[in-house]
Amino acid sequence: MKKIIVCFFVALIFVSTWGCGLNLEKEAENLNTYTASLEFDEENHTLSGNMKVDFCNKSNSTLNELKFNIYPNAFRENSAQPVISLAKSKECYYNGESYGNIEISKVQGANTSSFEICGSDENILKVNLQSPIQPTQSTSIEMEFVITLPNISHRFGYGENTINFGNFLPTLCVFENGKWQEIEYHSNGDPFYSEVANYHITFSYPENMILASTGICLDTQIFEGIATKTISAPAVRDFAMVLSDKFSVVSKEVDGIEVKYFYHSDLNFTTSLETAVKAVATFNNLFGKYPYGELSVVEANFCIGGMEFPNLVLIGDTIDNYDSYQMVIVHEIAHQWWYGVVGNNQTSYAWLDEGLTEFSTALFYEKNAGYNLTYEQIISNANTNMQVFSKVFSDVVGKVDTSMNRNLSDFETENEYIYSTYVEGMLLFDGLKNLLSEKVLIKCLKNYFTTFAFKTVTPADMIASFEKTSSLNLEPFFNSWIQGKVVFTS
Ligand SMILES: [Zn+2]
Repeated sequence: MKKIIVCFFVALIFVSTWGCGLNLEKEAENLNTYTASLEFDEENHTLSGNMKVDFCNKSNSTLNELKFNIYPNAFRENSAQPVISLAKSKECYYNGESYGNIEISKVQGANTSSFEICGSDENILKVNLQSPIQPTQSTSIEMEFVITLPNISHRFGYGENTINFGNFLPTLCVFENGKWQEIEYHSNGDPFYSEVANYHITFSYPENMILASTGICLDTQIFEGIATKTISAPAVRDFAMVLSDKFSVVSKEVDGIEVKYFYHSDLNFTTSLETAVKAVATFNNLFGKYPYGELSVVEANFCIGGMEFPNLVLIGDTIDNYDSYQMVIVHEIAHQWWYGVVGNNQTSYAWLDEGLTEFSTALFYEKNAGYNLTYEQIISNANTNMQVFSKVFSDVVGKVDTSMNRNLSDFETENEYIYSTYVEGMLLFDGLKNLLSEKVLIKCLKNYFTTFAFKTVTPADMIASFEKTSSLNLEPFFNSWIQGKVVFTS
């Protein structure tokens, strides 16, 4: 009875707090829902759980099966793809080789006949149905699993300071263009693609640890040294958590949103929190209000900068330059708008979210004085970097490919991926700012955010949206960048 009262109370807060912006409660209606009960075994670094998935067929196709991405299997021994580039491997696997995976022991439901682990690299859970699901029809399935975390400073794994549960739950593939989109893991970028859903999670872990997670905690019970939290996360693109027995927490409210900073070593924690708060306020003002009640910024074991999850971002605790650390905070928070609320296939069009996130980060420095960086410096550095990158590749390889719409696995090197998505992506939006004026570009971004909130977009959606707002034919401009025809010379 207590939980029901708490739930009702929180629902009232949702209505009153978010009534003026995007309506989260309305968005949460009719979404697929994951209801999971999870238990963490600290000694073995395993997470055992069961999960019910309530699925509604919103496609126009009749479905004979459901498919889920199971990302933990990318971390298993003998997987087809390394999860980290060779250059970063030693640093991330700081204790040597270590493996993780997900073992699914049971999948059942009134309409479930069997299940299998398949895909190109044991990356897919396929659930066969007894009778097909027609458009608009629903079904529920339940599964049991044990997830093993590897010892790695990564989004999924445990390190010296934190235990990171990123992309760990089986997550429905996106059904698009008449088929389930199966995502293959890659060390380049963020190889993920998902639709917003509701998550109701009950999580048990040792009570001496502190938990950061997506969503809002509705209830905490402590019994015989075990803490059990009940978490609700409506209309989010994924669900992530971080545990640590070393965390301290500070928080501050901005525009009705509670920004929390979980840290273990950061001596500048007050400044870090302040930067996070300024980032939320800046992006609320520029693009439209963040529609959730909380955002957790987490100093974590993560060897490649930072990582975005809905309502939660990881900031790597080995970033030794504090200016860079703050920039990563701003970048990951910008992803709450470009990835979190407006989603895209990050394996096919990484520039859509990364390029716009980098540009948003540059805008943050334009709007907030007092940092050791300016918008002009960031753009100037990016131009110089693209020139050097183009010249080095042309000289060494004989040609340079700066086309942007490529699958993660089609970038020949990690550098090619980074320059063609982050750097070139940011310069694309800077070029658009020069073409349209900042005022018109911000109007484009505001409309883009509102139109595609809680949905997924393609480059064509972005171009059409910007054209509608600006009343200009922008396709030639976008195409010259996307096709890699812009020449970077000094
Ligand atoms: Zn990013």
